[in-house]
Amino acid sequence: TVKTRFAPSPTGYLHIGGARTALYSWLYARKTGGSFALRIEDTDRERSIQASVDAILEGMEWLGLDYDEGPVFQTQRFDRYAEVIQQLMDEGHAYHCYCSREELEEMREQQRANKEKPRYDGRCRARTEPVEGVEPVIRFRNPLEGDVVIKDLVKGDIVINNRELDDLIIARSDGTPTYNLTVVVDDIDMGMTHVIRGDDHINNTPRQINIMKALGATVPAFAHVPMILGDDGKRLSKRHGAVGVMQYRDDGYLPEAVLNYLIRLGWSHGDQEIFSREEMLEFFELEDIHGAASAFNTEKLNWMNQQYFKSLPVEVIEGHLQWHLENQKLDISNGPALADVIEGQRERAKNLVDFVETSRYFFEDFDSYDAKAQKKQFKAGVDATLQATHDRLAALDDWNPESIQSAINATCEALELGMGKVGPPLRLAVAGTPMSPGLDVTLNLVGRERTLQRIEKAIA
Ligand code: GLU
Repeated sequence: TVKTRFAPSPTGYLHIGGARTALYSWLYARKTGGSFALRIEDTDRERSIQASVDAILEGMEWLGLDYDEGPVFQTQRFDRYAEVIQQLMDEGHAYHCYCSREELEEMREQQRANKEKPRYDGRCRARTEPVEGVEPVIRFRNPLEGDVVIKDLVKGDIVINNRELDDLIIARSDGTPTYNLTVVVDDIDMGMTHVIRGDDHINNTPRQINIMKALGATVPAFAHVPMILGDDGKRLSKRHGAVGVMQYRDDGYLPEAVLNYLIRLGWSHGDQEIFSREEMLEFFELEDIHGAASAFNTEKLNWMNQQYFKSLPVEVIEGHLQWHLENQKLDISNGPALADVIEGQRERAKNLVDFVETSRYFFEDFDSYDAKAQKKQFKAGVDATLQATHDRLAALDDWNPESIQSAINATCEALELGMGKVGPPLRLAVAGTPMSPGLDVTLNLVGRERTLQRIEKAIA
């Protein structure tokens, strides 16, 4: 069975690129009935921080990417790495290197002078005696001949000649394992069948494959996912505002929309844009991941978000809104049902932040009106219009969209005024802004008592 993993280094947020890699790995495991693991690659203790681990876990949860194993922390596996390093030593696949910094620098300078690519030349391979007073590093004895073939499901077969690879350090002089060693040990021990990761790791892959082979392990399939570019064609980074995925929550995006945006950023299925979770699972194939980098497009993400806001079940949106209501301090206990406001606003709100901001008048009274609209609507004579509307509304037996609409229509007729003269001042009086759902819906949701009070206040 398929086993995939997401293996972030906790040195920052869960960023968009990482989230996409996580999504692809998750999808592949879920669609094949396999299993998905989360591994925190925290061996770089200086750069790994707890806040970042928390942000990764929070981001995974927000996106709904659940894992069957983990989080596995590499820092808890040092004993195991030491064991494997010893095994490689014992079997002749690794050796101590006593070269000093100066010696290595001299070697590289020589190589540069000869117009060769700087690489470790393996000079300690044959050394049999330790060097007095030097704590050695341990290097992997890379094969000298033959090719390494990466069977990459995205990029096709990639062939690298072993002559291009040098002997990688697998343990530092203090005995701690290096990155490439820990990844290999974990991918073997955790039984990975598919390694799906960013193509910035593609230079590590042939080295990792060689270590795997030396350990007698089965080499997994690889899918190297091209990077994401900013709108300036440069690699997406914080400069582009590409911060953590939780920033997208804070900015009012729905996780469903972000996921859909992410799957399409580097993968396609015909020209379909919107995919339900079921469709993602049905159609996603590693082979269909695009071979070239994709560019981040905020407009498209915004569009996607609005599509989801319009179409998701109200209860789902209500769930996602809770954080925003608290964050923007909107108390909804005194007003219409949130679900009804969502129905009224979902066609117009840009995102969840905008929704909360533009829905306040349903729950709270206000002290001022939109200034521009006030100038335009509250002109001489408007009081009489508002008063007439007020009286007809006040006389209604039933308060519902139909009765409200007929009261407004009747006011227009009685005053011999068009809707354009009656509607806008009424909306401004009741909502405080010129933007609201239809008047029938707005007034119905605001409620009879509040509506009448607000009209009275506008006239006073
Ligand atoms: N820890 C690596 C990173 O965050 C990923 C390694 C891998 O997926 O093999 O870039």
